[in-house]
Amino acid sequence: MKKDVAIVGGGIIGLMTAWQLAQRTNLSIALFEREECGAGATGAAIGGLIPYSFSRSQGVAEVQRQSIQKYPTIAEELRVLTGIDCGYTRAGRIHVFTSDGQRDNAHKDVECSDGWQKMLPAFHKFDGEPEVVIGEFGGLQCDLTAFVKITLLIEALKKACQLAGVEVCEQTPITDLVEICAQAEQVVVATGCWTQALIPDCEVRPVKGQALKLKLPKQIFTRMVRQNEVYLVPYADGTVLVGSTSEPEAGFDITPTAEARNVLFGKACQMVPALAQAEVVDHWAGLRPRGGKRQPLIKRIDGQTLMAAGHHKIGLCLAPSVADAVVQDISSIF
Ligand SMILES: Cc1cc2nc3c(=O)[nH]c(=O)nc-3n(C[C@H](O)[C@H](O)[C@H](O)COP(=O)(O)OP(=O)(O)OC[C@H]3O[C@@H](n4cnc5c(N)ncnc54)[C@H](O)[C@@H]3O)c2cc1C
Repeated sequence: MKKDVAIVGGGIIGLMTAWQLAQRTNLSIALFEREECGAGATGAAIGGLIPYSFSRSQGVAEVQRQSIQKYPTIAEELRVLTGIDCGYTRAGRIHVFTSDGQRDNAHKDVECSDGWQKMLPAFHKFDGEPEVVIGEFGGLQCDLTAFVKITLLIEALKKACQLAGVEVCEQTPITDLVEICAQAEQVVVATGCWTQALIPDCEVRPVKGQALKLKLPKQIFTRMVRQNEVYLVPYADGTVLVGSTSEPEAGFDITPTAEARNVLFGKACQMVPALAQAEVVDHWAGLRPRGGKRQPLIKRIDGQTLMAAGHHKIGLCLAPSVADAVVQDISSIF
């Protein structure tokens, strides 16, 4: 039977959008995923919910900050509805600087951040985080940063969609946009870095990212830690996720490499030397969808089709706001 809305892609953008649409409208909705939900970039993510630097891009920074602040409510609603706790933890983050430039830029961020970020002096020792090394350039403490367990978030969103009446069709690739447009009044294309296959002139491209899972007998630090582009996410059971590389030249290849493993492990040990004792228990790669001019994309293709793809390194952070925007657009049509 013809649906009001078809969503193509079961990553964080497709799932969050489907759930929000189902909760906030009476529309009939189907979600089509060619493998299983979370098979793309979303399943590869390390789960960080991080506010962007204000000094870098004011527009995206503000949306991103508002978006991550929706997660406590989302996590609680999902827990009540599905019984699945996605492990939302607002533990905060320590950003360890490696240059004067990083420290100077951070001063600007701190000035516009209403007290949720503060500078840390060189060689600062946290009482609660003795394992984290802050060097000669100092660092930044951010209290808004949080993280989730991504596999549980995907599971919870999929179940919440089903409970809300969304028809979730996995192992169902959509090969032709015209065909899917015949099955639904409105179509949302949320196919990540594979969007060009359905919308040939879109600018979304893959950027390979590799990540590691480390295991220690117990948790030795609680905040996320960042140095340059590498993040550590510490879980209560002693697991630490380390992400990630950025390899735009790799195309659609998702083979993990020994070189990336060594680089990520080495950088993790620089930030928290005790991680040298950790065992590497997993190593994977995923393909981030990078939009044109690096901007996240929500774009009307025509009266029936909306594209929501291109959220690159921050799709998880942006998903609640992207879903809001799509719900508003679709609701205005019906
Ligand atoms: C190593 C790594 C770490 C990351 N860490 C973070 C992080 O900490 N925080 C953060 O905010 N972001 C992070 N990201 C980025 C984040 O993962 C992405 O921005 C986000 O997952 C993009 O979601 P999406 O739904 O647009 O795409 P995807 O998750 O790729 O979903 C697209 C889905 O569409 C399906 N699909 C494709 N074509 C078709 C078709 N024709 N028919 C049906 N289905 C189709 C795919 O199978 C896929 O499941 C990370 C990424 C990587 C690789």
